[in-house]
Amino acid sequence: MKQTGYLLAGAAFAVQAPRLVLTVLAADRLPVDADTERLLLTVAGIGTAVVMTGGGVFLAHAALTAQRWRLALGFAWLLVLTASAGLVAPAIVARLAGQDLHQVLGHPRLAKAWAILASLAHELTAAGCMLGAAAVAAKPPSPEDEELLLWNQLDGARERAERAERELSELRAQLLSLPSKTPAAGEPLVCAGCGRSFPTVQARSGHQRTCPARSAELSKAEPELEPAAPAQEGG
Ligand SMILES: [Zn+2]
Repeated sequence: MKQTGYLLAGAAFAVQAPRLVLTVLAADRLPVDADTERLLLTVAGIGTAVVMTGGGVFLAHAALTAQRWRLALGFAWLLVLTASAGLVAPAIVARLAGQDLHQVLGHPRLAKAWAILASLAHELTAAGCMLGAAAVAAKPPSPEDEELLLWNQLDGARERAERAERELSELRAQLLSLPSKTPAAGEPLVCAGCGRSFPTVQARSGHQRTCPARSAELSKAEPELEPAAPAQEGG
């Protein structure tokens, strides 16, 4: 499968090389006889057909089966399809209308666009095929690799858990060393007046507002306290 990709990309040479030969010869004003030109252009034509159709099929297959870059491969496949359709459609239109290709591509801009597409399409396909070949060559992770990865993850998780546990015990120690206003769990909340115990601080303060023993104690201590203090306690 990987070789198919490289082969198709290599076939792009067969497309471009003959055209380059003709172009360079024309630039040097060297005459090429009609038979040689026909041969070179035939090679280029067959090359284009092989690269475009084979490349499209290869890209579609790679986009569906490769381990990675599937989105990019799918996008490349769409591009190749579009380019292929753009190359072939004018020829079909010409045949249907009983005209030549150059008549269908009558407008200079249209002709220029078609020429650019014709010279780029196979290069685009070749690049896509190289990407596909690389993507297909990428091996899926072996069971041993996956097991190693899982062990590493387990070690990491264990380490994190131990660190969290250490931090938690440090925090607990800090919390215990703090002087606390509220009594520790288990220690009963007792009314300072009558000695009755309560489950919560709120319940005790509620009771102390009305506790006669507590009021008596407060009024006994009143001379020593600030004037506002008894009012705060709820009288
Ligand atoms: Zn009380």
